Amino acid sequence: MQCEICGAEIPGTPNRIVIDRSTLDVCKSCARFGKAEDKWTPVPRKVVPVERTFTARRPQSRDHFKDLVEIVPEYGRVIREAREKLGLTPDELASTIKEKAALIKKIERQELVPEDRVRKKLEKELNIKLTDQATEEKVKYRGGAKGLTLGDIADIKRK
Ligand SMILES: [Zn+2]
Repeated sequence: MQCEICGAEIPGTPNRIVIDRSTLDVCKSCARFGKAEDKWTPVPRKVVPVERTFTARRPQSRDHFKDLVEIVPEYGRVIREAREKLGLTPDELASTIKEKAALIKKIERQELVPEDRVRKKLEKELNIKLTDQATEEKVKYRGGAKGLTLGDIADIKRK
């Protein structure tokens, strides 16, 4: 154990003193530079800086990000065209999937991104895919080339 002030080897137990809120283990002759450690000091010796606990927090935007990436950019048009093909009005579609017509209209105008629950109902009812093509393929081909046909492979190569 060396004195943290003069560096001299301390025989036996060092003197713990406090100088300007820092706690130091020093030799007998340096002990006079500070005051003896106060056991009741409100500032612990190894306090973690408060800001560190904030920077360690993870951003919570993951789900939000997922939604933005997965839905096709022209989802409003896809929904409207599929609906018209089936000869449904927005109101009829809305009542079929038990949502408000205003919601369907907003989604078709792309004023609103449908939440997963609504999106899945629309996809099922209209027999469409509203998720990003690239994402779909990534999922489909995950886990290796097993089961791919030559046509599939040609498709991949073309990209
Ligand atoms: Zn010393």
